[in-house]
This record gives sequence, C-alpha cells and structure tokens, in this order.
Amino acid sequence: MKNHKNIKSLRLVLGDQLNIDHSWYQQKDPEVLYLIAEIKQEASYVAHHIQKVCAFFAAMEQFANTLAAQGHQVRYLTLDDTANFKDLPDLLRHTVDELSCEHFEYQRPDEYRLREQMLAFCSGITTQNKEVDSEHFLLPFEEIGDYFTPQKHVRMETFYRKMRRRFKVLMEDNEPTGGRWNFDAENRQTFKQADLKSIPTPLCFINDVRDIVNRLARNEIQTIGETASSLLWPISQEQGRELLAYFCQHQLPSFGRFQDAMTCNSEHQWSLYHSRLSFAINAKLIGPIEVIDTAIKAFHESDGEINLAQVEGFVRQILGWREYVRGMYWVNMPNYAIQNELNGSRPLPKWFWTGDTKMQCMRGAITQSLDYAYAHHIQRLMITGNFALLAGIKPDEVDQWYLGIYVDAIEWVELPNTRGMALFADGGWIATKPYAASGNYVNKMSDYCKSCEYSVKNKTEDNACPLNSLYWNFIDRHYNKLKQNPRMAFPIKNWEKKNDTEKQEILSKAQAILSDLDTV
Ligand code: FAD
Ligand code: SF4
Repeated sequence: MKNHKNIKSLRLVLGDQLNIDHSWYQQKDPEVLYLIAEIKQEASYVAHHIQKVCAFFAAMEQFANTLAAQGHQVRYLTLDDTANFKDLPDLLRHTVDELSCEHFEYQRPDEYRLREQMLAFCSGITTQNKEVDSEHFLLPFEEIGDYFTPQKHVRMETFYRKMRRRFKVLMEDNEPTGGRWNFDAENRQTFKQADLKSIPTPLCFINDVRDIVNRLARNEIQTIGETASSLLWPISQEQGRELLAYFCQHQLPSFGRFQDAMTCNSEHQWSLYHSRLSFAINAKLIGPIEVIDTAIKAFHESDGEINLAQVEGFVRQILGWREYVRGMYWVNMPNYAIQNELNGSRPLPKWFWTGDTKMQCMRGAITQSLDYAYAHHIQRLMITGNFALLAGIKPDEVDQWYLGIYVDAIEWVELPNTRGMALFADGGWIATKPYAASGNYVNKMSDYCKSCEYSVKNKTEDNACPLNSLYWNFIDRHYNKLKQNPRMAFPIKNWEKKNDTEKQEILSKAQAILSDLDTV
C-alpha cells in the first residue's frame, strides 16, 4: 500500500459508485485521496453469487486504475488489505486518522443500510464531512417526496409519463412520440419455432478474475453459483458502452416484442432480447440517460428496423421502472423491509439453491441464475417470484435469495421488486394486484411445459402441475382480502363457481405439495 502524504481530503467511492463522469473527477488535486476498498462487510452481508462479487471487485479495480491513470491520487485496498478492519467505518476511521485528513466526503449511498452507516460514522468524527450526490439518477433525491408518498400506491404509468414530459424523452410538442404512451399490448409475443433460430448470440466479455476468486477463497467469503475464472459481465465504462451498442444493434429491434417471452429451446435462452445492462448501470459504469439517449438515437437511425414499440418498451424500463422503484424504496424505508402483508411464513425450498426440482420452469430459471448470476425480468417475476408468492414463502428469505443471486442485485432495486412486485408483501404500494399465476400463464408465455414432468393441464392428479393447485389455494387463502380488489374479480368469481368437492380436492392437493415443498 502506497504511503500517501499531504492528503487533506479523503473521498470514499463505494463499489456501485463507479461513475467516471462524476464532477469529483473534473479537477485533479494532489491533496485529495480517493479510497476504493474491497471489504468483507460488503462481500458477506448476504451470500452473493461469486460472479456478482467478482464483477463488483473487478469493476472497482478497473475504476481505480482509470482514476490513477488520469492523475488522481487513489488508494485501492483488496480484501487482504482490509481483512483486519471490522467494517467500513472502522476502515474509514483508521484512514482518516492515519492521513490526518481535514475533510471526508462520500457520495450518498443508494442503499438505506449504507447510508445509515455513513451518517452514523460522520456524526462520530470531528473531521469536517460532506455527503454529495452520486450524479446518476434522473430524479433528484431531494424530489422523491414530491412524487411518492410513504405507504401509498403510486401508479408507475403516471410517474413514467411525468418523467417523459419532464426530461423530454420521446416527446414531440409535449405529446408522446407516435401519439401513444404505451405499447404493452403489442409487446407480449411468444416465440414460435421459427423465431428460436434468430435469437441473437449474447455479447460476453472475457475478464480475468482469477486473482479475485483466490482472494475470496483466502478470506473465506461464502458465495453461491458457478465459479467464474473469466467473467462475462462488463467491468468498465468502455465495456458497458460496448454492450449497449451491441444491444441496440442486435436486441433492441425485438426487445419489446419478446420482453415477456421465455423458452428452454435455444442456446441463448438465458439472454434472449434483453440488454443485460443492469450491472453496468447499477454500478454506474454508464448512466441511465446515456443508455436512453443511445437507444433513441439507434431507433432514429435504424431506417425502420427498430420501431417505436421496441424503443418505448426499453425506455419505459429505465426512465420508468428503474427510477420508480428507487423512489418507492427511499420513501418507504426502513419500513419497506419488514412488510409482509400476505403473512408469508414458509422457508425457501432447498432447491432454490441448486435448481434440483422436477418443475421445468423453476429448474430452468434457477439453474440459469446459478450459472450466470442472471435471469430476465419475467423469469424473476413470473417464475421464481410467482412460486414464492403462491407458496407463501417468508419475504425475508426471498429477499435474501434475490439479493444474493443476481449480478445486478442492490437492495434499492431488489427490495421493491421482490417485496412489492413479486410478493405483494407491501399490500399494493407498487402493484395493483398480486402477480399470481397458474401453470396456464407459464404455458402461454413459454415452451417450458412441453418438456416438464408435470402436466400443465392437470390440477389434482399425481402428475398435476404444482402451480395449478397452489394458485387456487392462494386465492382461497387470501379470499377476503382479494375479494375487495376489483382487479381480482375474475379469478375470485371462478373460484366461487367451483363446487365444494372440487375446491376440497384442489386444496388437499395444494396442502400435500406445501407440506413437502423440498421434493416438488
Ligand atoms: P432489460 O430487460 O434489458 O431491461 C433494461 C433495463 O431496465 C435493466 O437493465 C434495468 O436497469 C431496467 N429495469 C427493467 N425492469 C426493471 C425493474 N422492474 N426495476 C428496476 N429496473 C428495471 N433489477 C436490478 O437491477 N436489480 C435487482 O436486484 C433486481 N431484482 C429484481 C427482483 C425481482 C423479483 C424482479 C421481478 C425484478 C428485479 N429486477 C432487478 C428488475 C429486472 O428484472 C432487472 O433489472 C432486469 O431483469 C435486468 O436485466 P436486463 O439488464 O437484461 O434488463
Ligand atoms: Fe412449470 Fe407447471 Fe409448466 Fe411444469 S407444467 S413447466 S411446473 S408451469
């Protein structure tokens, strides 16, 4: 470790604050030291996928090298260097004392946990300190309260339209480009046999992370998932931009069309038409506005190859959903993390950690998550999320799983998606109804059922798709609550129409499954 001298200011850069365009870096000051550190606290607050830890550490190291090459003073500490520090505040206290710093600055963390830790640290030191913005999101942090109210439902569509207007994205004369805000109806196609051959090959990088893997082992960091000796995820702004350009060329032309589709019959079934940009954006290697502008530019320059429905579908995810869940998270924390409206109480089945289940849809989504630290949105929401919802799994355990397994998982974005969207544990702050589905939905949107040991057509037979009885059991269990929700009128009516014998058979089947979830 270099012995830095004459440092007046210490600036902390967290692992998801790798924004090289931040105003901090516009001036070089030999009296300012940037601290970037791999610490056990962050590598082990949950059991992370090994590719996730490798991606963050590799990106942090690259970022430190880039800053140093630009002439900034940088201290990069590996897990070995920080092994003796209890946690982040311990490391910071030591560094501030060692360098006799007059100032300490940090960018506002996106996670409640870390923000609280930083605020507590700063209140306990005499060194002058300052929190600055991370200069990443479109909606200023201070304005979150103008758009969101604690414990209140806010319609994503309403928020999204405000954002479109405010940031003049896909707008002409204050009206949406093409005269429509929403192309969701066109964006629900499934794959036909002929479509499977044209699914694009995903761009995968070859980043050498062997040193990091060894460091993790040496420091006894528990991880999950497949070891990556070379990492396919982008770890620099340059690679993030390369992935974005590749996406615009190869995947954006059909992004919206197939955004809800799933298949287990393609070599590229794990990536399909998704951008896989979430890690690069969440680590702030690239900013959301750059991603949006690049996609819109590609749309305008595509000579009709990319139509409006595709680009709008993509913009909606970033300008809409991503900014929306961040607002929902901050306005509701720390309360959000304890919501359990539907009283989920069962432990997560063991096969969530192995993929060893007979259910083809679950096996596919989980195996792929363990292999790549990635699943696309509809797998997260309507396969694993739906199962956890129907089976009444404890939200804490579901949260831990999602937070650990995905390369892009950071609490501010993971938690509202998991507790809110997937589990309806917030009682409707995000979703207007639970995203509960039987096997019928999976069969409609994928080809999983064709090669499943279970039969999607059956409800109570030995080989019946477990989702079918679990679905009706869910409706029955939450009948009184769901009956008050107009959006649930259809399934409620269908349940009411069943005679007592049929209801009883379905509920008994569901109980049998629930009593032995590990073997399903
Ligand atoms: P694409 O399908 O290509 O979408 C483009 C971008 O839009 C994404 O990169 C992402 O930045 C943004 N986006 C899309 N949907 C959402 C959404 N619902 N919320 C926020 N941003 C969105 N996303 C994370 O980044 N981290 C998480 O930990 C995370 N956990 C999730 C947990 C559950 C239960 C669910 C249902 C969704 C979760 N998502 C999470 C949202 C979404 O599934 C991922 O952002 C997306 O799958 C990432 O893949 P991609 O980059 O290929 O996305
Ligand atoms: Fe999943 Fe049921 Fe279809 Fe099997 S039959 S893949 S368990 S939905």
